[in-house]
Amino acid sequence: MPKSLLVANGIGQFEMERELRRQICKTGQKMYAHGFVVACEGNLSVRLDRDRILVTPAGACKGHLGPEDLLVTDLNGVVLCGTRRPSTEMLMHLLYYRLRPEVRAVCHAHPPIATGFAAAGRALEEAVLPEVIVGLGKIPLAPYGTPGTWELCAGLESLAMEFDAILLENHGVVTCGQDLTTAYQRLETVERFATILLTAESLGGPRLLPHAEVQKLIATRPRYGVSSLEGTAELPLTCETLVDRADRNPSCFLAARPRGRPARRKLHGTSSQETIRLGLDHPRQFGS
Ligand SMILES: [Zn+2]
Repeated sequence: MPKSLLVANGIGQFEMERELRRQICKTGQKMYAHGFVVACEGNLSVRLDRDRILVTPAGACKGHLGPEDLLVTDLNGVVLCGTRRPSTEMLMHLLYYRLRPEVRAVCHAHPPIATGFAAAGRALEEAVLPEVIVGLGKIPLAPYGTPGTWELCAGLESLAMEFDAILLENHGVVTCGQDLTTAYQRLETVERFATILLTAESLGGPRLLPHAEVQKLIATRPRYGVSSLEGTAELPLTCETLVDRADRNPSCFLAARPRGRPARRKLHGTSSQETIRLGLDHPRQFGS
């Protein structure tokens, strides 16, 4: 390769890394401003190339990062550039980069409503909002593991292969994307979905979409440029799914609602007389 081109490539990589450092700092400011993290919570990373990532340091407020605070590591977490310690939760980021070559950014935060669902042991897996179904399918719940350990990653591994946004039990949310903007927007989507679901439940419960409507939404994914989920992600729970589960195990209605009387919810698209009991407050207790 001509020397001039080598120099040009070197400058290009330098400029690219500088821009990515700037993007991480800007995204950290947004996470902090939106209340997705407080104090020194959360972490961000981007893939620089096949073998290196740029990651936020441990013990730093994401709202006040400077480009020079970030570290470059290899895919084993060995620091190649930077003077600080990388995020203690970097293992989770490394898991994504090792498992999925197409992933170029990972965001982890503790947005309060979505983390509330995670703390209650509840996935965001109901078919409620079209944009969530199109963009993410459903948002599963990874079992609890001590933050910053491979124990957490062990519970996350199978889900990370399939899903771009995952709740971490008693912990928070992790998202990934083909760039940092996409990964961050998925974080926003998860928190907004959790907020709307919580609101719907306080108003009597969400009306789940039927399977046929979910299929129509899935079919639109290419139109919105959603490629990573096509044909691979599990579909969210539709009204039929829950009715079918209830038919097989009628006692689950009682198990799902330890307090108060069961909700009566009208199925989407049914007549006003056709109502059905759906114990949606704790879907994990349906035996999933
Ligand atoms: Zn965390």
